[in-house]
Amino acid sequence: MLKKILLSVLMIVVVVFVTALAANSFLGRDYFINGASKVVPTSLLELSEEGKRLHKRLWVVDLHNDLLLAGRDATEWAAAGHSDIPRLQAGNVGLQVLSAVIKVPFGLNSRHNDDNSDMVLPLAIWQHWPVRTWFDLTERALYQADKLKKIANSDAVHLITTKKQLEKRKPLGVILAIEGLHALEGDEKNYQRLYDAGYRMMGLAHFFDNKVSGSAHGVNKGPLTDFGRHIVKRMEDDGVVIDLAHASPSAIKEVLAMVSGPVVVSHTGVKGTCPSMRNLSDEQITSIAAGGGVIGIGFWTTALCDITPDGIVKAIRYVSDLVGVEYVALGTDYDGATKVGFSADKLALITDALLRANFSEHEIRLIMGENTQRVLGQILH
Ligand SMILES: [Zn+2]
Repeated sequence: MLKKILLSVLMIVVVVFVTALAANSFLGRDYFINGASKVVPTSLLELSEEGKRLHKRLWVVDLHNDLLLAGRDATEWAAAGHSDIPRLQAGNVGLQVLSAVIKVPFGLNSRHNDDNSDMVLPLAIWQHWPVRTWFDLTERALYQADKLKKIANSDAVHLITTKKQLEKRKPLGVILAIEGLHALEGDEKNYQRLYDAGYRMMGLAHFFDNKVSGSAHGVNKGPLTDFGRHIVKRMEDDGVVIDLAHASPSAIKEVLAMVSGPVVVSHTGVKGTCPSMRNLSDEQITSIAAGGGVIGIGFWTTALCDITPDGIVKAIRYVSDLVGVEYVALGTDYDGATKVGFSADKLALITDALLRANFSEHEIRLIMGENTQRVLGQILH
């Protein structure tokens, strides 16, 4: 009897495995992730000649993109998702922060998530990540850094880890970032491993509270832990950019009181134009600007409530009117399982919408890249 049961279980495992293998080769490694990052039809105005010309002259910098999580070849123009190296180049992006997504809970929502489930694990298996990444979050981050270095070797992009390298404007510059310091597995030694791998921007938390910081979407949404305070101090000393996107309000407040230099919020919306859960309040915007930092406006639905170029510019205008044009930038969240109005190759639409909203050429240069460049230049060593 037992033998029969074992044999049936074995048969089921084999059938599931063979079916998964067949599905994987038939559907492709990007099947699930492509379904998550969509361009939804939005009314887009025709680009003006003036907008086109100005956009070509800009140094465009984007503070947040999750392309590294996609399984597709980033050096090829793809029909799916929001971006790849050719589409970033077509959008005239000069510097792109590429963020590594490490662990995301099932049933993801903006209000309340624990860390008991792990959606990245099946994705890692599906995309054939090495086995060492399956149950070790630091290894996932190191693997994503390796992935980027392979792209950087193709001459299409160069990895920036120092302030000096920011001056080089061709080819496309890339800064490695991490979305949530659960990637440290609570061990400071892993911080050094990530630094050595090239990570120069670190978000404290993602969708759940971790051993560094509470998350805006976590269970307790608490402040920094003692370990977190220590890591934030190290980041400041080492010239690693502190990213407060997704952090809990109390952690944001604490970091801003602690640090002496600027910080970033790499991708967000603002409550003033879209009152959703983790969008920044006026008070938070004011404190970030007071520290000289920069706020990257995201392009997705819950950040904006209106994903048209004019909707994006409305949020930019709001920050600019509240604290000044020097503190606002782009933080698209392309390929971050988001729904956006247009892909990376069409970024000139933002320049055009900024012109329509009567921003001057000087102000547009700041928003589209120079503000972020200023802050990165102040922080990186
Ligand atoms: Zn995010």
